[in-house]
Amino acid sequence: MTDLFSKKIAGIAPYTAGEQPSDRSYVKLNTNENPYPPSPKALEAYRSFDFGSLRLYPSLDMRALKEAIAKAEGVSPENVFCGNGSDEVLSFCFPAFFDPEEPVRFPAVTYSFYRVYAKLFGIPYEEVPMLPGFAVDVQGMTAGRGGAILPNPNAPTSLELPLAVIEDMARAQREKGRVLVVDEAYVAFGQEPSAATLVPRYDNLLVTRTLSKDHALAGLRVGYALGQRGLIEGLLRVKDSFNSYPVDSLAIAAAAAALQDEDYFRLRRDQVVRTRDFFRQGLLERGFAVLPSSANFVFARPGFCPGRELFAALRRRNVLVRRWDAPGIEEYLRISIGTQEEME
Ligand SMILES: *Cc1c(COP(=O)(O)O)cnc(C)c1O
Repeated sequence: MTDLFSKKIAGIAPYTAGEQPSDRSYVKLNTNENPYPPSPKALEAYRSFDFGSLRLYPSLDMRALKEAIAKAEGVSPENVFCGNGSDEVLSFCFPAFFDPEEPVRFPAVTYSFYRVYAKLFGIPYEEVPMLPGFAVDVQGMTAGRGGAILPNPNAPTSLELPLAVIEDMARAQREKGRVLVVDEAYVAFGQEPSAATLVPRYDNLLVTRTLSKDHALAGLRVGYALGQRGLIEGLLRVKDSFNSYPVDSLAIAAAAAALQDEDYFRLRRDQVVRTRDFFRQGLLERGFAVLPSSANFVFARPGFCPGRELFAALRRRNVLVRRWDAPGIEEYLRISIGTQEEME
């Protein structure tokens, strides 16, 4: 069977997402989904959608969605690129901005999809070792000749770099004419402003976002990037060499409606942040080591038993969390923030 695969695919280890079981009900704290429902405005947009219009392909420029994003971000629609989840947008960054002659850099402990994209698109990479306490080595990130990509806040560590440090990285990358991609999947849960505020000043800075976590729309599959026109043009070239319509008409309508409902967004974000801080404090009091969290999850190490054992014990009690058998983090669990009741 696999002898029919291309050499590239035969040698690739795909990303493994957290499980999405349907056999019974779990307290599901393993994929950083939002525990609350999406904005009722998104549901309204779905209900009032002209179903007959599905016979047509979606809007080529996703105008309604780009305008909603541009308004929410204070940029122009031409600074926005939309994709089928931010994973797709991030994947497009590799062929768009990185070359096989120059390794792309990312932190050694980070979103493991970057490594998979690099391999899929034949881009060599350098994993920049973490500093003590899982801090990102900022100098190391920009020390190479090629591009750089990192999440801020980082996953799975939940630690956030200040905006000024992101700007230093953008500047260092610009001096050698290379791109910096900042994956802001969790920015809404942190204290720092978005790096989108730097986009007007750095033509080499691309910021990606997703509606999956902070807007509770993981199932809708909508993500986007913010950047100057040149970078957006690069992403459009990849998209139009791959799939002209990555975001469907229903998703465009529902995502635009959700983005317009800022009050609802803030209400739910604040709930998650309050529960996170409550939960982290509770873990500390029970002898866990817990990194300070700027995300909708915590990264915690039990002081009283191996991480593997706690993971298994939780699973037996129908609580799903995430753990990696990777050097340096094998004792840690990444625990998504559910409702207050679930975390209690
Ligand atoms: C969840 C996540 C994404 C992907 O989000 P989608 O928009 O659902 O594809 C991207 N980056 C990081 C760091 C994430 O944790």
